[in-house]
Amino acid sequence: MSRSQTYDIAIIGGGVNGCAIARDAAGRGLSVFLSEARDLAGATSSASTKLFHGGLRYLEYYDFALVRHALIERELLLRAMPHIAHPLRFVLPYHSGLRPAWLLRLGLFIYDHLDFRPGHRKMLPGTTTIDLGTDPAGAPLKPGYKKGFEYSDGWVDDARLVVLNAMDAAQRGAEIAVRTRTTAARREKDHWIVSLQDTHSGQSRQIAARALVNAGGPWVGNILQDVLDIETSDHIRLVRGSHIVVNRLFEHDRAYIFQQGDGRIIFAIPYEDDFTLIGTTDVDHDAPLSEIACSPDEAEYLCRAASEYFRAEITAKDIVWTYSGVRPLYDNGASSASAVTRDYVLKREGAAGQAPLLNVFGGKITTHRHLAYEAMQKLAPDFALNRKDWTRGLPLPGGDFKRGSLAAEQDALLRRYPFLEGKQAHRLLRAYGTLADKVLGQATSIDDLGRDFGAGLTEAEIRYMIDREWARSTEDILWRRSKLGLRLSAKQTKALDTFVTGYVATQFGTAAASADTPMAPPQKPEQPQIQPTPPDSPPDGAGARLEMPGQKAG
Ligand SMILES: Cc1cc2nc3c(=O)[nH]c(=O)nc-3n(C[C@H](O)[C@H](O)[C@H](O)COP(=O)(O)OP(=O)(O)OC[C@H]3O[C@@H](n4cnc5c(N)ncnc54)[C@H](O)[C@@H]3O)c2cc1C
Repeated sequence: MSRSQTYDIAIIGGGVNGCAIARDAAGRGLSVFLSEARDLAGATSSASTKLFHGGLRYLEYYDFALVRHALIERELLLRAMPHIAHPLRFVLPYHSGLRPAWLLRLGLFIYDHLDFRPGHRKMLPGTTTIDLGTDPAGAPLKPGYKKGFEYSDGWVDDARLVVLNAMDAAQRGAEIAVRTRTTAARREKDHWIVSLQDTHSGQSRQIAARALVNAGGPWVGNILQDVLDIETSDHIRLVRGSHIVVNRLFEHDRAYIFQQGDGRIIFAIPYEDDFTLIGTTDVDHDAPLSEIACSPDEAEYLCRAASEYFRAEITAKDIVWTYSGVRPLYDNGASSASAVTRDYVLKREGAAGQAPLLNVFGGKITTHRHLAYEAMQKLAPDFALNRKDWTRGLPLPGGDFKRGSLAAEQDALLRRYPFLEGKQAHRLLRAYGTLADKVLGQATSIDDLGRDFGAGLTEAEIRYMIDREWARSTEDILWRRSKLGLRLSAKQTKALDTFVTGYVATQFGTAAASADTPMAPPQKPEQPQIQPTPPDSPPDGAGARLEMPGQKAG
């Protein structure tokens, strides 16, 4: 086993929290190493509902501080990434049998005003009452729904958010190692010796670091126990949430929030232009972390919950894809899964003179940036760092243009690359922002971008994802760097796989990553439940049925 370098900070976990910490630390001039056992955002951070939100329902638990904090972050984040995030209006139909209208209005009033910083100009419009009898948002709903409320929140491409944090960290000097598992770490007074294994080649190596960050998400406890061999009294509660994706259920661009008889709420969100995303569930996850999947019961619950409101009945047959993630919630002793705090807890461990360990428990996509800032505050004394919140307001890579000018950016891109179709230019801008030019390079014709594997996914874009965004497999490309897996047929996916395998092999000299090496329990992150497109899918893939709930154990 070779030992190479000594870093200031080694981070375990390439989810949103690990990558945000890498970014913040690298921007402070620290040398950073991040290991991710699978793909960036390969676990919880690509399986969220994808909302930058305060969390309206946490008001019911009087978690005002959490909601306010998240609402402030929501505004900051929406400004920092106009390509991958955007404001979204939510329609809440009033249901006479559930929470009274005055209570909903009060909750939304509080939601609108919790971010009460003086002199601060809010970006998002406040709540309005709508007549579902006349408003187009009423059209897809059952006729009984007459009144609704409309409020603002934000939407983000969660998987790309993680990659862009990693990219920014790397541009500031961080080393990001994907398919690299941290197998052990031991403290030797003022530094850590960290053992790493390349999950493809099987090769092992060691690095040294002055501080260690455990950002393993649902694996935070396993890492403490099995990788670090540390006893802890802190526990996380693993709460699974599943989503279903169906063909587009409504034409307008707003989302719905539906109250349920059991007190829960579910969302129905416009998704990838042609689809509707419905979720989520909230169930304790008792199975091993290698078995995170939408159970038939969860799929049925979501179909039933949506069918309560929509005119169209949604059944398991309508599902084109499902995904599931496990929330790593800090266990505050709450009785129900829905009531466990969504706030994060950072615990610094290590006596004076000892190399510190920072454990990250919980957290939301919405609070990742602030979590990273607070993580660095915990480590500031160890590195004599200044306390400046430097990431505040700074755009992520590709996000250096004004919100609201996406159409102008698209026109400009089409002027530079007139051979692109409008739809393709739009998708590239939403994914890469001003970095779209790096994807397209010197191309002067569509042929210069190489083969189109379907839905406008060209060789040039695939190379970009592999060379600059750490993609190593077809799954990384189709389900995390993009969601084009919803559109490619089985035949197209196979052709893509051949190309990706060959290209990764030439670039990295390994037998490429068409499938990930299985990882032994307990600390093995497994891929989210993504099923290959069955052979009878339509050739163009739109609406290709990827998985029926019930085919896999939940
Ligand atoms: C269903 C659901 C819906 C949600 N919706 C929202 C939402 O709408 N808005 C919001 O703000 N938040 C939401 N969240 C919360 C949010 O998604 C999570 O809090 C966040 O993604 C956690 O990120 P993380 O980096 O801590 O964990 P993860 O993303 O799980 O990352 C941990 C990483 O550590 C890696 N790892 C583990 N062990 C090792 C090892 N030994 N070596 C190297 N790497 C290792 C794993 O492979 C994994 O990639 C939702 C969560 C769920 C489950």
